[in-house]
Amino acid sequence: MRLCFFNEGRLGLVKGERVHDVSVVLGHLPAARYPYPRHDALIAALPGLRGAIEAAATGEGLPVGSVTLACPVPNPGKIVAAPVNYQKHLQEAIDEPETFSRAHVRKIQETGLFLKATSSLVGPSHPVEIRHMDRRTDHEVELAVIIGKPCLAVTAETAMDHVAGYTIGLDITVRGPEERSMRKSLDTYTVLGPWLVTADEIADPASLDLALDVNGEARQRANTRDLILDIPALLVFASSFYTLMPGDILLTGTPDGVGPILPGDVMDASIAQIGSIQVKVVAAETAPA
Ligand code: MN
Repeated sequence: MRLCFFNEGRLGLVKGERVHDVSVVLGHLPAARYPYPRHDALIAALPGLRGAIEAAATGEGLPVGSVTLACPVPNPGKIVAAPVNYQKHLQEAIDEPETFSRAHVRKIQETGLFLKATSSLVGPSHPVEIRHMDRRTDHEVELAVIIGKPCLAVTAETAMDHVAGYTIGLDITVRGPEERSMRKSLDTYTVLGPWLVTADEIADPASLDLALDVNGEARQRANTRDLILDIPALLVFASSFYTLMPGDILLTGTPDGVGPILPGDVMDASIAQIGSIQVKVVAAETAPA
């Protein structure tokens, strides 16, 4: 099942090249009372809603290319991310000390995971808005794992039972000495899309080709089999520190080939069995809104 949010907060079921509006299903979600739970209510309820979603997908739908795609997980409680989790990316960081601050180039087992602000999230129809034009800002394409069920201290054997699905993630990054959580949390610096592909549709998430081009030029080419910590190991690591909740996003790390982006650039990212996204890069308006 491929689920997206499109246009003005519509829930869509994607079949082939068509998007079917299944927003009526959002009315089945439990009424939330303040204080609201820190998880994504749709992801939490998804196992029980699949039949209703399928049943609501009547009619012809809309062409995928005609809609505005928003972030497929609207209300994640947190974004967990893996630093330098491909060996070749670790090596390129070691080889380029003027770009990759020494304090941040260590093995993932020593560095641990980091958190990005949820306010950095956008969908693929939204441009990345570059701030700090005097700094280098890079693209990072990553497989994003969406948590489906609460889990604390999971084992590798059961970790994958807690995955709702997968999507493409862009972890846009200002290079420099500050903490990752600051350099990667600017508004629009986490792009997710085009849709959530439920876990049952991807038999082996540890063998997915991923790619990113900038202006048609190949920048990143890799396969998730080359992750240093694979998905179960990342879930074990993360959940040994904190509870992962439905809708939480795990960015699994970027492969080698990271490079700068500038206003006017267009990024094309794809992951096998998920799809592709095209994201524009613009300069952020510097005046306060
Ligand atoms: Mn990253």
